Amino acid sequence: MRATRAVIHLDYLRDNIALVREKTGAAICVPVKADAYGHGALRTAQAALKYGAAYLAVATVAEGEELRDGGISAPILLLSVPLPEEIPRLINAALEPLAGDAAYIDALAGAAGKARKKASVHLKVDTGMGRIGCRPGEAGELAARITGSGLLLAGTATHFAAADSTAEDDRVFTAGQIQSFRTALHGIRARGVDPGIVHAANTGAVLFHKSGWFDMVRPGILLYGYAPLDGGKKALPVKPLMELESRLVFVKTVKKGESVSYGRIWTAPEDTVIGTIPAGYADGLPRPASGKWDVYVDCQSPSLRPLAGRICMDQCMVDLGPRPAASRWDRVVIFGGPAPDAEVLASRIGTIPYEICCNINKRVPRVYVE
Ligand SMILES: *Cc1c(COP(=O)(O)O)cnc(C)c1O
Repeated sequence: MRATRAVIHLDYLRDNIALVREKTGAAICVPVKADAYGHGALRTAQAALKYGAAYLAVATVAEGEELRDGGISAPILLLSVPLPEEIPRLINAALEPLAGDAAYIDALAGAAGKARKKASVHLKVDTGMGRIGCRPGEAGELAARITGSGLLLAGTATHFAAADSTAEDDRVFTAGQIQSFRTALHGIRARGVDPGIVHAANTGAVLFHKSGWFDMVRPGILLYGYAPLDGGKKALPVKPLMELESRLVFVKTVKKGESVSYGRIWTAPEDTVIGTIPAGYADGLPRPASGKWDVYVDCQSPSLRPLAGRICMDQCMVDLGPRPAASRWDRVVIFGGPAPDAEVLASRIGTIPYEICCNINKRVPRVYVE
């Protein structure tokens, strides 16, 4: 196996799931879209189910098929809207789509009928995200359309746009979303239709909006170990699952004034020792972190050492200092574990931990720890 690898602590997933369950008392849906936020969809899904998750969620039909091919039989939500030609495949894989318009519902009913399958659908209500879903006032009618066309209304859902913000206007907005969702649920029940499992809460709502928990919660980044909000870590002490590590594959001395890497943005301020790490932006290391990140060098006296020069496609360099304790083949941790985590890295370069983890791609082998 190559030196650069992502160590995934599935035992922390177990702990994080337990924390969310203790806090909310709700059933848990684990979003494993985008290859489980970069953690590896199948292994993460298997572990999540073992540790008590009730549902999984994916964004694309292919992501759902990958889980079914891997032997997963648990219910899987399909969060995004597929093309019409993908509908037979999602029915065949028994994915449970979020539907919020009559045309999609009718197409699902048609495909399910053709396949002679009883398909489960979740009604998606748009209460302020502005992405997909029906208006709250249309929920009753669409719910009746779902059950009336031979589909099973397995659940009713909405999604929050700003539940991860502690600003007062955002808190008021989220409270309004919850109120609109209640109106929609009332409209469904008023038609004599059972809304099924009611679910809304993402990470922000799990942490900060108790009235948004309902029957099932869908926190993603929280279960992967990040509470990227003011006071989030205090609200729930989750642990990051992903640790990106590598090795020093080349070590050399450079003289004061010599430059390192493309564009010569870094020159040695003194004679120093440079280590080369075989990980770069093609592995998902963000190139904007060039010159803005310190990696943990694991040796006799471990320390955080700064990257030197631009991050290349497949390699980057670290300034080990004039008299380093480290030597060739020593382990380095780029983020997570003993190094600062993906949230710290994200904040240095103006992004979010979601993007850091998702971008660690298939070229990087995953090593699972349980
Ligand atoms: C991705 C997603 C989630 C999880 O969001 P987090 O911010 O990671 O908690 C929940 N629901 C829907 C519909 C999503 O698309």
